[in-house]
Amino acid sequence: MSNDETIAIIGAGTMGRGIAQVFAQAGYEVSIFDAFPAALEDGVKQIAKMLDRAAEKGVIKPDDAAAAKKRIRPTKAVAEFRKCPLIIEAATEKPDIKIDVLKQTQKFLTDDGILATNTSSISITQLAAATARPDRFIGMHFFNPVPLMKLVEIVRGLQTSDETTKRTIEYAESVGKTPVQCNDHPGFVSNRILMPMINEAIFCLQDGVAEPKAIDDIMRLGMNHPMGPLALADLIGLDVCLFILEVLHRDLGEDRYRPCPLLRKMVAAGRLGKKTKQGFYKYE
Ligand code: NAD
Repeated sequence: MSNDETIAIIGAGTMGRGIAQVFAQAGYEVSIFDAFPAALEDGVKQIAKMLDRAAEKGVIKPDDAAAAKKRIRPTKAVAEFRKCPLIIEAATEKPDIKIDVLKQTQKFLTDDGILATNTSSISITQLAAATARPDRFIGMHFFNPVPLMKLVEIVRGLQTSDETTKRTIEYAESVGKTPVQCNDHPGFVSNRILMPMINEAIFCLQDGVAEPKAIDDIMRLGMNHPMGPLALADLIGLDVCLFILEVLHRDLGEDRYRPCPLLRKMVAAGRLGKKTKQGFYKYE
Protein backbone atom coordinates (compact mmCIF):
# COMPACT_ATOMS: atom_id res chain seq x y z
CA MET A 1 0.00 0.00 0.00
CA SER A 2 1.43 3.38 -0.96
CA ASN A 3 -0.23 6.76 -1.16
CA ASP A 4 0.51 7.28 -4.86
CA GLU A 5 -1.98 4.51 -5.68
CA THR A 6 -5.21 5.46 -7.47
CA ILE A 7 -8.34 4.66 -5.51
CA ALA A 8 -11.62 4.49 -7.44
CA ILE A 9 -14.85 5.73 -5.88
CA ILE A 10 -18.22 4.89 -7.43
CA GLY A 11 -21.00 7.37 -6.71
CA ALA A 12 -20.49 11.11 -6.15
CA GLY A 13 -23.39 11.61 -3.72
CA THR A 14 -23.21 12.46 -0.01
CA MET A 15 -20.90 9.56 0.85
CA GLY A 16 -18.86 9.11 -2.33
CA ARG A 17 -17.69 12.72 -2.25
CA GLY A 18 -16.74 12.50 1.43
CA ILE A 19 -14.78 9.28 0.85
CA ALA A 20 -13.05 10.82 -2.18
CA GLN A 21 -12.12 13.87 -0.10
CA VAL A 22 -10.51 11.91 2.76
CA PHE A 23 -8.48 9.71 0.39
CA ALA A 24 -7.29 12.75 -1.60
CA GLN A 25 -6.37 14.56 1.64
CA ALA A 26 -4.36 11.51 2.70
CA GLY A 27 -2.33 11.77 -0.53
CA TYR A 28 -4.01 9.15 -2.74
CA GLU A 29 -4.91 9.82 -6.36
CA VAL A 30 -8.69 9.46 -6.63
CA SER A 31 -10.90 8.63 -9.63
CA ILE A 32 -14.55 9.34 -8.90
CA PHE A 33 -17.36 8.09 -11.12
CA ASP A 34 -21.11 8.71 -11.10
CA ALA A 35 -23.67 7.37 -13.57
CA PHE A 36 -25.22 10.85 -13.78
CA PRO A 37 -22.94 13.58 -15.23
CA ALA A 38 -24.72 16.33 -13.26
CA ALA A 39 -24.21 14.41 -9.99
CA LEU A 40 -20.54 13.94 -10.83
CA GLU A 41 -20.06 17.63 -11.58
CA ASP A 42 -21.92 18.69 -8.47
CA GLY A 43 -20.03 16.14 -6.33
CA VAL A 44 -16.62 17.40 -7.45
CA LYS A 45 -17.71 21.03 -6.85
CA GLN A 46 -18.89 20.14 -3.36
CA ILE A 47 -15.58 18.42 -2.54
CA ALA A 48 -13.71 21.58 -3.62
CA LYS A 49 -16.04 23.68 -1.46
CA MET A 50 -15.49 21.41 1.57
CA LEU A 51 -11.70 21.57 1.13
CA ASP A 52 -11.81 25.38 0.78
CA ARG A 53 -13.93 25.64 3.90
CA ALA A 54 -11.54 23.38 5.85
CA ALA A 55 -8.64 25.63 4.74
CA GLU A 56 -10.53 28.82 5.74
CA LYS A 57 -11.19 27.34 9.19
CA GLY A 58 -7.51 26.44 9.53
CA VAL A 59 -8.25 22.70 9.73
CA ILE A 60 -5.89 22.09 6.80
CA LYS A 61 -3.26 24.24 5.09
CA PRO A 62 -4.41 26.06 1.90
CA ASP A 63 -1.60 24.32 -0.07
CA ASP A 64 -2.80 20.91 1.12
CA ALA A 65 -6.39 21.74 0.13
CA ALA A 66 -5.20 22.79 -3.34
CA ALA A 67 -3.08 19.61 -3.68
CA ALA A 68 -6.02 17.41 -2.58
CA LYS A 69 -8.27 19.04 -5.21
CA LYS A 70 -5.72 18.24 -7.93
CA ARG A 71 -5.65 14.57 -6.91
CA ILE A 72 -9.37 14.12 -7.65
CA ARG A 73 -10.13 13.05 -11.21
CA PRO A 74 -13.82 13.05 -12.24
CA THR A 75 -14.44 10.01 -14.41
CA LYS A 76 -17.39 10.08 -16.80
CA ALA A 77 -17.28 6.39 -17.77
CA VAL A 78 -16.03 3.36 -15.87
CA ALA A 79 -13.93 2.51 -18.94
CA GLU A 80 -11.72 5.48 -17.98
CA PHE A 81 -10.66 3.80 -14.70
CA ARG A 82 -7.01 2.82 -14.53
CA LYS A 83 -6.06 -0.37 -12.65
CA CYS A 84 -6.76 0.27 -8.96
CA PRO A 85 -5.80 -1.64 -5.80
CA LEU A 86 -9.02 -0.48 -4.10
CA ILE A 87 -12.45 0.36 -5.50
CA ILE A 88 -15.06 1.69 -3.06
CA GLU A 89 -18.66 1.57 -4.21
CA ALA A 90 -20.91 4.29 -2.74
CA ALA A 91 -23.79 4.29 -5.25
CA THR A 92 -27.52 4.40 -4.49
CA GLU A 93 -28.66 1.87 -1.87
CA LYS A 94 -30.35 -0.58 -4.26
CA PRO A 95 -29.01 -4.15 -4.73
CA ASP A 96 -29.55 -4.17 -8.53
CA ILE A 97 -27.68 -0.90 -9.01
CA LYS A 98 -24.81 -2.05 -6.81
CA ILE A 99 -24.50 -5.51 -8.40
CA ASP A 100 -24.52 -3.98 -11.87
CA VAL A 101 -21.84 -1.41 -11.10
CA LEU A 102 -19.68 -3.88 -9.15
CA LYS A 103 -19.75 -6.30 -12.08
CA GLN A 104 -18.78 -3.52 -14.48
CA THR A 105 -15.91 -2.19 -12.38
CA GLN A 106 -14.27 -5.32 -10.93
CA LYS A 107 -12.14 -5.76 -14.06
CA PHE A 108 -10.32 -2.54 -13.19
CA LEU A 109 -8.86 -4.05 -10.01
CA THR A 110 -5.18 -4.99 -9.83
CA ASP A 111 -4.59 -8.75 -9.41
CA ASP A 112 -4.78 -8.54 -5.62
CA GLY A 113 -7.14 -5.52 -5.59
CA ILE A 114 -9.99 -5.13 -3.09
CA LEU A 115 -13.58 -4.34 -4.00
CA ALA A 116 -15.34 -2.60 -1.09
CA THR A 117 -18.89 -1.37 -0.62
CA ASN A 118 -20.14 1.43 1.60
CA THR A 119 -23.61 -0.11 1.80
CA SER A 120 -25.55 0.63 5.00
CA SER A 121 -27.63 -2.50 4.95
CA ILE A 122 -27.34 -4.78 1.93
CA SER A 123 -25.78 -8.17 2.69
CA ILE A 124 -22.02 -8.15 1.99
CA THR A 125 -22.18 -11.90 1.32
CA GLN A 126 -24.95 -11.39 -1.26
CA LEU A 127 -23.06 -8.61 -3.08
CA ALA A 128 -19.81 -10.63 -2.89
CA ALA A 129 -21.51 -13.60 -4.56
CA ALA A 130 -22.16 -11.44 -7.64
CA THR A 131 -18.44 -10.67 -8.04
CA ALA A 132 -15.61 -12.73 -9.48
CA ARG A 133 -13.56 -12.74 -6.24
CA PRO A 134 -15.79 -12.91 -3.13
CA ASP A 135 -12.70 -13.40 -0.94
CA ARG A 136 -11.55 -9.91 -1.99
CA PHE A 137 -14.92 -8.28 -1.31
CA ILE A 138 -15.69 -6.43 1.95
CA GLY A 139 -17.91 -3.80 3.57
CA MET A 140 -16.14 -0.50 4.26
CA HIS A 141 -18.91 1.44 5.99
CA PHE A 142 -18.00 5.11 6.39
CA PHE A 143 -20.16 7.53 8.37
CA ASN A 144 -21.64 10.88 7.46
CA PRO A 145 -20.05 13.47 7.24
CA VAL A 146 -17.06 11.35 6.21
CA PRO A 147 -14.32 13.96 6.82
CA LEU A 148 -15.48 14.37 10.44
CA MET A 149 -16.53 10.90 11.54
CA LYS A 150 -13.75 8.65 12.84
CA LEU A 151 -15.43 5.26 12.47
CA VAL A 152 -15.26 2.85 9.56
CA GLU A 153 -17.28 -0.30 10.25
CA ILE A 154 -15.36 -3.11 8.52
CA VAL A 155 -17.90 -5.78 7.58
CA ARG A 156 -16.68 -9.25 6.67
CA GLY A 157 -18.83 -11.32 4.34
CA LEU A 158 -18.90 -15.10 4.70
CA GLN A 159 -16.12 -15.47 2.13
CA THR A 160 -14.01 -12.37 2.88
CA SER A 161 -10.41 -13.45 3.45
CA ASP A 162 -8.25 -12.53 6.45
CA GLU A 163 -5.80 -10.83 4.06
CA THR A 164 -8.58 -8.64 2.56
CA THR A 165 -9.76 -7.69 6.06
CA LYS A 166 -6.23 -6.83 7.19
CA ARG A 167 -5.50 -4.67 4.14
CA THR A 168 -8.87 -2.89 4.33
CA ILE A 169 -8.17 -2.04 7.97
CA GLU A 170 -4.80 -0.62 6.88
CA TYR A 171 -6.47 1.50 4.19
CA ALA A 172 -8.95 2.89 6.72
CA GLU A 173 -6.12 3.72 9.13
CA SER A 174 -4.08 5.33 6.35
CA VAL A 175 -6.82 7.97 5.88
CA GLY A 176 -6.95 8.66 9.62
CA LYS A 177 -10.02 6.58 10.46
CA THR A 178 -10.63 4.08 13.25
CA PRO A 179 -11.77 0.75 11.78
CA VAL A 180 -13.92 -1.57 13.89
CA GLN A 181 -14.70 -5.07 12.65
CA CYS A 182 -18.00 -6.92 12.65
CA ASN A 183 -19.66 -9.73 10.72
CA ASP A 184 -22.23 -9.54 7.96
CA HIS A 185 -25.73 -9.47 9.47
CA PRO A 186 -28.69 -7.20 8.58
CA GLY A 187 -27.86 -3.61 9.57
CA PHE A 188 -24.42 -4.71 10.83
CA VAL A 189 -23.99 -3.22 14.34
CA SER A 190 -24.43 0.50 13.63
CA ASN A 191 -27.76 0.55 11.84
CA ARG A 192 -29.29 -2.34 13.76
CA ILE A 193 -29.07 -0.15 16.85
CA LEU A 194 -29.45 3.32 15.32
CA MET A 195 -32.38 2.79 12.93
CA PRO A 196 -34.91 1.48 15.50
CA MET A 197 -34.17 4.62 17.56
CA ILE A 198 -34.73 6.93 14.57
CA ASN A 199 -37.89 4.99 13.65
CA GLU A 200 -39.23 5.33 17.22
CA ALA A 201 -38.58 9.09 17.12
CA ILE A 202 -40.68 9.28 13.92
CA PHE A 203 -43.46 7.27 15.62
CA CYS A 204 -43.33 9.81 18.50
CA LEU A 205 -43.83 12.61 15.97
CA GLN A 206 -46.61 10.72 14.17
CA ASP A 207 -48.39 10.02 17.48
CA GLY A 208 -48.22 13.72 18.41
CA VAL A 209 -46.07 13.07 21.47
CA ALA A 210 -43.97 16.17 20.71
CA GLU A 211 -42.80 18.51 17.94
CA PRO A 212 -39.57 17.61 16.05
CA LYS A 213 -37.42 20.11 17.92
CA ALA A 214 -38.70 18.89 21.31
CA ILE A 215 -38.03 15.24 20.39
CA ASP A 216 -34.49 16.13 19.32
CA ASP A 217 -33.84 18.40 22.32
CA ILE A 218 -34.92 15.66 24.72
CA MET A 219 -32.50 13.18 23.17
CA ARG A 220 -29.68 15.75 22.93
CA LEU A 221 -29.96 17.25 26.39
CA GLY A 222 -31.20 14.20 28.28
CA MET A 223 -29.11 11.47 26.64
CA ASN A 224 -26.14 13.64 25.65
CA HIS A 225 -26.50 12.74 21.97
CA PRO A 226 -24.66 15.29 19.80
CA MET A 227 -27.73 15.64 17.58
CA GLY A 228 -31.33 14.50 17.85
CA PRO A 229 -32.65 11.45 15.94
CA LEU A 230 -34.85 13.47 13.54
CA ALA A 231 -32.02 15.85 12.60
CA LEU A 232 -29.79 12.81 12.16
CA ALA A 233 -32.38 11.12 9.91
CA ASP A 234 -32.47 14.29 7.77
CA LEU A 235 -28.68 14.20 7.53
CA ILE A 236 -28.55 10.52 6.57
CA GLY A 237 -31.41 10.88 4.05
CA LEU A 238 -34.94 9.64 4.76
CA ASP A 239 -34.86 7.37 1.69
CA VAL A 240 -31.70 5.71 3.03
CA CYS A 241 -33.33 5.30 6.49
CA LEU A 242 -36.46 3.75 4.95
CA PHE A 243 -34.44 1.35 2.86
CA ILE A 244 -32.38 0.18 5.86
CA LEU A 245 -35.52 -0.33 7.99
CA GLU A 246 -37.09 -2.37 5.19
CA VAL A 247 -34.02 -4.60 5.09
CA LEU A 248 -34.06 -5.03 8.91
CA HIS A 249 -37.80 -5.74 8.89
CA ARG A 250 -37.62 -8.25 6.05
CA ASP A 251 -34.39 -10.03 6.97
CA LEU A 252 -34.76 -10.17 10.75
CA GLY A 253 -38.51 -10.78 10.49
CA GLU A 254 -39.45 -8.80 13.60
CA ASP A 255 -42.29 -6.26 13.85
CA ARG A 256 -40.12 -3.94 15.91
CA TYR A 257 -38.29 -2.93 12.70
CA ARG A 258 -41.52 -1.97 10.83
CA PRO A 259 -40.88 1.41 9.14
CA CYS A 260 -43.12 4.16 10.53
CA PRO A 261 -45.88 5.15 8.03
CA LEU A 262 -44.90 8.81 8.44
CA LEU A 263 -41.39 7.94 7.18
CA ARG A 264 -42.91 6.29 4.08
CA LYS A 265 -45.08 9.38 3.54
CA MET A 266 -42.10 11.75 3.76
CA VAL A 267 -40.14 9.68 1.22
CA ALA A 268 -43.15 9.47 -1.12
CA ALA A 269 -43.41 13.27 -0.97
CA GLY A 270 -39.73 13.63 -1.90
CA ARG A 271 -38.91 15.18 1.48
CA LEU A 272 -35.67 13.27 1.87
CA GLY A 273 -33.95 15.53 4.41
CA LYS A 274 -30.99 17.86 4.00
CA LYS A 275 -30.21 16.76 0.44
CA THR A 276 -33.63 17.95 -0.81
CA LYS A 277 -33.67 20.91 1.61
CA GLN A 278 -36.72 19.54 3.42
CA GLY A 279 -37.20 16.64 5.79
CA PHE A 280 -38.34 16.95 9.40
CA TYR A 281 -36.71 20.40 9.19
CA LYS A 282 -36.29 22.95 6.39
CA TYR A 283 -32.78 23.82 5.16
CA GLU A 284 -31.57 26.90 3.27
P1 NAD B 1 -26.78 9.64 -2.52
O1 NAD B 1 -28.14 9.46 -3.04
O2 NAD B 1 -26.37 10.96 -1.95
O3 NAD B 1 -25.70 9.31 -3.67
C1 NAD B 1 -25.75 8.15 -4.47
C2 NAD B 1 -25.04 8.47 -5.78
O4 NAD B 1 -24.96 7.27 -6.56
C3 NAD B 1 -25.81 9.50 -6.64
O5 NAD B 1 -24.96 10.58 -6.99
C4 NAD B 1 -26.22 8.70 -7.87
O6 NAD B 1 -26.22 9.49 -9.06
C5 NAD B 1 -25.13 7.64 -7.90
N1 NAD B 1 -25.46 6.47 -8.70
C6 NAD B 1 -26.66 5.87 -8.90
N2 NAD B 1 -26.52 4.79 -9.71
C7 NAD B 1 -25.20 4.71 -10.01
C8 NAD B 1 -24.43 3.84 -10.80
N3 NAD B 1 -24.97 2.80 -11.45
N4 NAD B 1 -23.10 4.07 -10.92
C9 NAD B 1 -22.53 5.10 -10.28
N5 NAD B 1 -23.20 5.97 -9.51
C10 NAD B 1 -24.52 5.78 -9.37
O7 NAD B 1 -26.55 8.46 -1.48
P2 NAD B 1 -25.48 8.38 -0.29
O8 NAD B 1 -26.12 8.86 0.96
O9 NAD B 1 -24.18 8.94 -0.74
O10 NAD B 1 -25.36 6.80 -0.14
C11 NAD B 1 -24.46 6.05 -0.93
C12 NAD B 1 -24.21 4.73 -0.23
O11 NAD B 1 -23.64 4.98 1.06
C13 NAD B 1 -25.47 3.91 0.02
O12 NAD B 1 -25.13 2.55 -0.10
C14 NAD B 1 -25.81 4.26 1.47
O13 NAD B 1 -26.56 3.25 2.09
C15 NAD B 1 -24.43 4.37 2.07
N6 NAD B 1 -24.32 5.16 3.30
C16 NAD B 1 -25.02 6.33 3.43
C17 NAD B 1 -24.86 7.06 4.61
C18 NAD B 1 -25.57 8.38 4.79
O14 NAD B 1 -25.55 8.91 5.90
N7 NAD B 1 -26.16 8.94 3.76
C19 NAD B 1 -23.99 6.63 5.63
C20 NAD B 1 -23.28 5.45 5.43
C21 NAD B 1 -23.45 4.72 4.26
